Order: sequence, then C-alpha cells, then structure tokens
Amino acid sequence: MCISFDYCKTDTVRDYSFNEINEKDEIELLFTRFQKKRRINIYYSDLVISEQTNSFSFFNGISSIDSAAIFLPKSGVGLVHELGHTFGLYHIFEKKFGFEKVDGTDCATTGDMICDTPAAIDVFHDKKTCEYYGNTIDVNGDYYKMELGNFMSHYFCAHCFFTTEQYEKMASNFLNAPIKLW
Ligand SMILES: [Zn+2]
Repeated sequence: MCISFDYCKTDTVRDYSFNEINEKDEIELLFTRFQKKRRINIYYSDLVISEQTNSFSFFNGISSIDSAAIFLPKSGVGLVHELGHTFGLYHIFEKKFGFEKVDGTDCATTGDMICDTPAAIDVFHDKKTCEYYGNTIDVNGDYYKMELGNFMSHYFCAHCFFTTEQYEKMASNFLNAPIKLW
C-alpha cells in the first residue's frame, strides 16, 4: 500500500471489567472512554465477543476521525484481518451484496466486490487444521472455492496474503477518506 505506520503509545486500561469483552456494548463503552482520535487504536483483552469471533473492528474506520479501532485477543491473532476491514475491505465471502458466482462474471458487484479474489462462502471449515471441506454450488452448479490464505477469509491459521486488488482498494480508501488520520 506504500503506507507506513508509526508506533505512538502503549497504555493500560485499569478496569478489570474489560478483561473480557463479551458484547458490542462493552466495545462502545471502551471506545467512548478511551479512543484517541486520528490514531489506529488497538485494544487487547482476553476475549473479544466470543471464542469464535475473537477480533473486531469498524469497517473503513480510517474514514472518520475516531473510528479506527481494532479489538484483539492478547495473542494478536486477527490484527492484519482487522486492518483489512479498517481500510475498507470486506470478507472474501461477503454476502450482503449477494453471492458471487464461481465463474466471477459478477465479481465487481457481488461478494467482496473485488475480482482477483475467488467467489467464496464461509462454511465448512476446521478452525484448527484450516481445512476447507465445503461442497456448496452456485446458481450455475459450480463448486465454491476458498482462498484459505487470504487475510480476508476466516481461516486465521492460514492467513498470509492480500491480493493486488485488495491492496489497491485499501490504498484508494485511504486516499479518498474525507479526513486524513495522520
Ligand atoms: Zn472479519
């Protein structure tokens, strides 16, 4: 992305009730009390919402002065995934715009709206081994694939790359943000 980050400050929230973040309300509370403007704020706790979820951030958080906030378990797992959301990336299995067809003919308007990621769906995976064993087909009868290693999949144990278009999308979201954080 050609963006570099400077380390700013480490702080401690001296309130044990935030040791586990069990619901979105607690995120709101943390956020209102501690969020620093014009920074990517990373909050570490023992648990974020649930074992299954265990990380959270605001979509395109860089687009406003105080919504760049990432919530992580102390292991740090999920940081790059949440940075992807913070810079405006959807999951590769996003369904709010409709399921992308496996042949990719509608890739710009469905799924994650990015064409060099595969049409994917978020089902049938083993969190420990990172194995995909889905056999779901699309409207054409083609089998969905899964890009296990893509940071915007939910295979956290296999994460290792963004695609070129994902980098371009993040960079353009940053450039188009109405305010600049830094
Ligand atoms: Zn996510």
